[in-house]
Order: sequence, then C-alpha cells, then structure tokens
Amino acid sequence: MMQVPLTVGSLLERAEKFFPKKEIVSRTLSGISRFTYKEIGQRTRKLACALERLGIQKGDRVGTLAWNHHRHLEIYFAAPGIGAVLHTINLRLSPEHISYIINHAEDQVLFVDEDILPLVEAVKDHLKTVKAFIIMTDKDKLPSTTLEPVYSYERLIEAGDPTHSFIQDIDENDPAGMCYTSATTGNPKGVVYSHRGIVLHSFALGLADTTALSEKDTSMAVVPMFHVNAWGLPFAATWFGAKQVFPGPMFTPKLLAQFIQEEKVTVTAGVPTIWLGLLKELEQGNYDTSSLRGVLCGGSAAPKAMIQAFEQKYNIPFLHAYGMTETTPLATISTLKSYQKDLEQEEILTIRSKQGLLVPGLDMKVIAGDNEVQWNGKEMGELLIRGPWIANEYYKDDRTSEAFKDGWLYTGDVATVDEEGNIKLVDRTKDLVKSGGEWISSVDLENALMAHEAVFEATVVGVPHPRWQERPVACIVLKDAFKEKVNKQELLDFIAPQFAKWWLPDEIIFMDDIPKTSVGKFLKRELRSRLKDYFIE
Ligand code: ADP
Repeated sequence: MMQVPLTVGSLLERAEKFFPKKEIVSRTLSGISRFTYKEIGQRTRKLACALERLGIQKGDRVGTLAWNHHRHLEIYFAAPGIGAVLHTINLRLSPEHISYIINHAEDQVLFVDEDILPLVEAVKDHLKTVKAFIIMTDKDKLPSTTLEPVYSYERLIEAGDPTHSFIQDIDENDPAGMCYTSATTGNPKGVVYSHRGIVLHSFALGLADTTALSEKDTSMAVVPMFHVNAWGLPFAATWFGAKQVFPGPMFTPKLLAQFIQEEKVTVTAGVPTIWLGLLKELEQGNYDTSSLRGVLCGGSAAPKAMIQAFEQKYNIPFLHAYGMTETTPLATISTLKSYQKDLEQEEILTIRSKQGLLVPGLDMKVIAGDNEVQWNGKEMGELLIRGPWIANEYYKDDRTSEAFKDGWLYTGDVATVDEEGNIKLVDRTKDLVKSGGEWISSVDLENALMAHEAVFEATVVGVPHPRWQERPVACIVLKDAFKEKVNKQELLDFIAPQFAKWWLPDEIIFMDDIPKTSVGKFLKRELRSRLKDYFIE
C-alpha cells in the first residue's frame, strides 16, 4: 500500500474541493455571520500565510484563548497546515494555570478573543515565550490593551495569500495539536495530538456505529473548542463537508434551542450540565427540535432520567459517550446491538445509559490488581485503553509514568463490563465513596436521585466520617417549581428500593447551585472541601 501521510490540512482541502458551497454559521460578540467552506478555506490559507510571515515555523506552538466560532476553526487548520501546533487553552482555568500552560507549552503567539483580553492582560508579565498577540474582534479598530505587540486578526489575514499552500513536508506522527487537562491537583498536564491521531479519530466519528457524522449533518459543537478540540467534531465535520454551527461566547440554553430550530441542527455535543439546561428550556418554550438525530453527551455520566426525558418526551435520540483529553477523546459510545432492539424499554434505557462499547480501532481491559475482571457487570476495576488516537505520554511531565505503563493508558476510571462488553463507569477512582472498607458509587446514587421529578441537579460526594472513613452526602438543586416542597426523607425513600441501606446518603443538602469545573462538570473537590468537617464534631 502507499504510504500517504494522514494530515490535518488534508481534511480542510477535501471540504474546499468537494463542499465549497456548504455553510458555516458562526456567532461572535457582534452577531451571527455565515461563511462557505470556500471562504473559510481562503481565510485559513491567508492566516497560514500570515503566521509564516510572523515567523511561525514547523513545530512552534500557536496558542488560542477563544470561544467556538469561525476564526477558531480557521486556526484549527492554519496552524497544523503550516506544521505548527494548535494549542487550545482552557480560558476558564485560574490565571496561575493559564500562565503555567502557556509557558510550559512555550507558545510563540496567542490568539485572543476580544472579551478574553483582561484575562491575558492579567498574566502578561508572567509569559516568557509569547512574541505576538493576535486579537480577534469584529470591529475595525483594535480595542485598547496593555498587551504588545498586538495585531488585528482581520488585518493580518487581509494581507495573506488566499491560495497559500499547506506545507507538504509533514510526517503524520508530527504534533498537530495540544491540550492540557484541568488536573484536579497540581499543574495541568499536556497532551499532544499527532496529525495521524486526529485524522484516525475523525474517521471514528464517521462510523455508523459511533456518531455517523456525515455531509448530511448540521453539527453544533457546544463543548468548547478549548476542551479536547471540541471532541474532534470541527475536524471531522469539516472533512465530511457537514454544515457547522458555532454558538460563540456566553451562549444560553435559549440560544442553543433557537440554533437547533433555525439552523436545523442534527448533531450536537456537550456535557450533561449543558443538556440539563437545554431540557429546562425545552420545558419552558415551544421549539421545533425535530431535526436533531443525536445529542452527544460525555465528560461525566449522563443520568438515566435525562436520557429518558430527551428520548421519550422530546423524541431526541441520545448518544452517551466516554473519553478523556488523553483519548482525543472518543473511546466508547453507547449503542444497542441489533438483537437488543426488542428488549423492554427499561432494559434498553439501562443499556443506553452505560458508557457503552469500545470504538473500533481501540483496545481495552479492566483490571483489578493483576487480573482482568469478569465481564459480569459487577466486578469493578480500573479501565485501561490503548490505540492509535490514545496519547502515550504527558508533554514534558514526570507524571507520565503514573498514567502510561506497558503500552496502556491507565484512565483512573473505575468500571464494570457487562456480558455484552459494555463499559459502565462506576466512578473516578478519587470520587468513589469509601465507606467501612466498601466502595459506594457516587454515580449510581446521582443517577437514582436525578430520576426524581423534583431534582434538577444532583451530585454525591464522600465526606470524612469518624466511624466509617467516608459517608455519602448528596447535594441537590431542586427544580424551581419544587423549591422547599420536597424534603430529605422523600428523596431517600424514593431511591431506597434500589440500594443496600448502607449505600444511602447520610445527608441531603439542598443548594441553589452546584459549583462546576471549567468545563461544566460538578466540582466535587470543592464540595468535599466545604463539607470536610460535616461529620466531625
Ligand atoms: P478533566 O480531567 O478536565 O475533567 P477530561 O475531559 O479529560 O478533563 O475528563 C475525562 C474524565 O471525564 C474521564 O476520565 C471520566 O472520569 C470522565 N468522563 C468522561 N466521559 C464520561 C462519561 N460518559 N461518564 C462518566 N464519566 C465520564
């Protein structure tokens, strides 16, 4: 066979060649604009040209602090197109972590959204390698800033060549992108994506048994483009020539619902807290969501009740998937096998709420000690994964040896595997509640609580206990209509039939809001620290 390198630039080249008329809808601070792949292609090439003129060379890191919009998409292709490395930075991290990440990656230039400027200005004196800041604004004039030197994105590309070629001298194993995980302790850890990894992952997103992304789709990545490349959707959707919708900064559930209705979005992707917000909006408004054929959900466990609401109340198919920054990210996805289609509704829902089957191309095992667990849906162990889009190290980081051993990624996730091979995540190792020498799955308790009609959000954490080491405590946000109308005992009675008595939370705390991480997951660390003395006199 021919040895043709798999490169990120070739993904855009296909869209330019075969789908020049297809549309990109992009929301920025000043409103909504529309482009074709032909225009995006020309703008990307101009940008590639401009980056080279700024002195960016093969291997250099190009940082972005930006929301989901067309300019971010252009950088997704322009940087790897000239052999540089697209480094998306999570703009919701602390200033300390942001400057650590930029310095550690040695970013040469930073692309910054106008509304993110104050954040970068606050850390600018700590940045050691950045030679230029490129500001993304719709206005003719650059906003005043203490950063220097600054360039206007639009001015820079105006001077570029719309036919500029991507470089040919690329090995498919060269780095194309990088992303730091928002580590819960210590500094964030960098993961580098190769051209080959991104292209193979894009293939995986197109498979019929995964997300089946295709030209016929209108894809709306709600998951931020700074979080694992928006789960690879912008790369794959461009390659396949799908219409794309980018919801921009500070979007609301209402805006998402409107985009779904007006742009006829077919596939969208985000974490469960986003979909809980959308559900609330759908309950209040009257939207046509009939175009949707898949809501892709990952990042934390999708509660069964939420899947049920989407599918049964709104007839919107749900796609529960699992992955990590280290896995590009798609690793498993929940699907029914052909012979499971006629099972009872409840059984189907139980299968669909698991994290599902390993995606073709990857390999996995679940181990307890030295042995693989039985595939009986009961035995728990740590999930290990390997494959061509799984990272093999953390970028220049001693912690590599903790997670990468003997050719496997140790995910730090505890899982069971059922007889069909479906993965069910029990918990992250650190989130398991350790009570009296036994483990309690916070995820199972959360799922059960979320099924109560009054519960909007539920999260369960292990709280230190003088007798049992830890005991589960549930933190609950009630739906507005049920505020102060439901008590602890009612919720405990509701979930009691599903669990052994000692699994039930010792306390249920009602809150107005559950703290969230930079990517919208429940911030259990913060809750644990707030509650650490709860059982200690
Ligand atoms: P962060 O560490 O910043 O949360 P990642 O996106 O890399 O960033 O997080 C990956 C982790 O998210 C996984 O190791 C797993 O614990 C959790 N996760 C991802 N998808 C799911 C899912 N479908 N169900 C439960 N947990 C999930």
